[in-house]
Amino acid sequence: PTGAIAERPALQEVEAALADDGKYVVVQTAPATKVSLGEEFGLAPGAVVSAQQVAALKALGFDAVFDTCTGADLTIMEEASEALVRLTKKQEELPHFTSCCPGWVKFCEYFYPDLMGHLSTCKSPAAMLGATVKTYYAAKMGIAPESIVTVSIMPCTAKKFEAQRAELSEDSLADVDYVLTTRELARLIKRHGIDFSALAPAAYDSVLGESSGAGRIFAATGGVTEAAVRSLYYFATKRQPPADLLSWQAVRGLTAIKEAQAEVPGVGMVHVAVVSGMAAARRVLEEVRRTGRSRWQFIEFMACPGGCLGGGGQPKSEFPADEAVRRKRMEALYAEDKGAPRRMSHENAEVQTLYRAFYGAPLSERAEQLLHTHFEDRSGRLFDRETQAKA
Ligand code: SF4
Repeated sequence: PTGAIAERPALQEVEAALADDGKYVVVQTAPATKVSLGEEFGLAPGAVVSAQQVAALKALGFDAVFDTCTGADLTIMEEASEALVRLTKKQEELPHFTSCCPGWVKFCEYFYPDLMGHLSTCKSPAAMLGATVKTYYAAKMGIAPESIVTVSIMPCTAKKFEAQRAELSEDSLADVDYVLTTRELARLIKRHGIDFSALAPAAYDSVLGESSGAGRIFAATGGVTEAAVRSLYYFATKRQPPADLLSWQAVRGLTAIKEAQAEVPGVGMVHVAVVSGMAAARRVLEEVRRTGRSRWQFIEFMACPGGCLGGGGQPKSEFPADEAVRRKRMEALYAEDKGAPRRMSHENAEVQTLYRAFYGAPLSERAEQLLHTHFEDRSGRLFDRETQAKA
């Protein structure tokens, strides 16, 4: 479905918000953009430009620059908790399907609505961060939520559709107001005459700017699973996971369907599948449909081959980006994880503060209200569209 989603430009709306003194414009950057934006400025694929990207966004006039990886850590807090409940108490909802990729979610809603009950109810990291900005951050800073404009820099054209979903608005305030792709951000930087290579590195703003290694690998296929199982293990045992789960090679790499298992004390063997690309998703979903519970308990789906690092909004001469480019971006993400002072989402100090001060605990009433969502059976619309096309 991602290919069918037009890249709706939002540059003018974002520029208008930046020029409006009555607006407080917050931007967040997805992990995949940090290892690809440099390509638009002559750097090699996989060059890590997080700090230059933050500097460019500050030069453009954004009031606060946050990290979608913080949202990814928040997603893992919720999703690992949700998966643990399903694994131990609600086994009828297994296999658990991830829900952070809007391209995949829409595909499921159109073609496999009978399996929607397996979807995690977690919003995507960008939407979780957006909802947190307009509630917790707004209150903390004394800013009226209505005056906040949230912009996300994403590798993804499907995120533009996601931002418009009615379910992702609270009291008619959208979690994310505008989405710019990596390519659009590059265009904005060039249009404003910012010399990207001359920018002094800048740091994300605090409150929502810290990330664990787990949050950073979300952009690679298998990254969500690896991040989730690290925290799921901790939540189930109150012990750190063993070293092989902190560097879980079986779920890494660009293969379209990967399978692995992890022994989690008190839970048992958790069988996972990691799927990227919609052709592979169809194969796995047909098997789940055929076998009911299937042989997996946790399945990660990403619409783009290789995950977000190969997303439709990334720098490109073709889509998906060729394998060598995707591999370079992927290696950069895993190096970032390995070098991170904290490797697990539940160790993120800002996320811990956020739960203490605002959400209480994962799956709390407030967390369910702001960080979780529901899905819609869209199969009828597909039929309508086909009927219209034939008429
Ligand atoms: Fe978007 Fe592709 Fe990532 Fe899905 S896998 S969130 S469609 S970039």
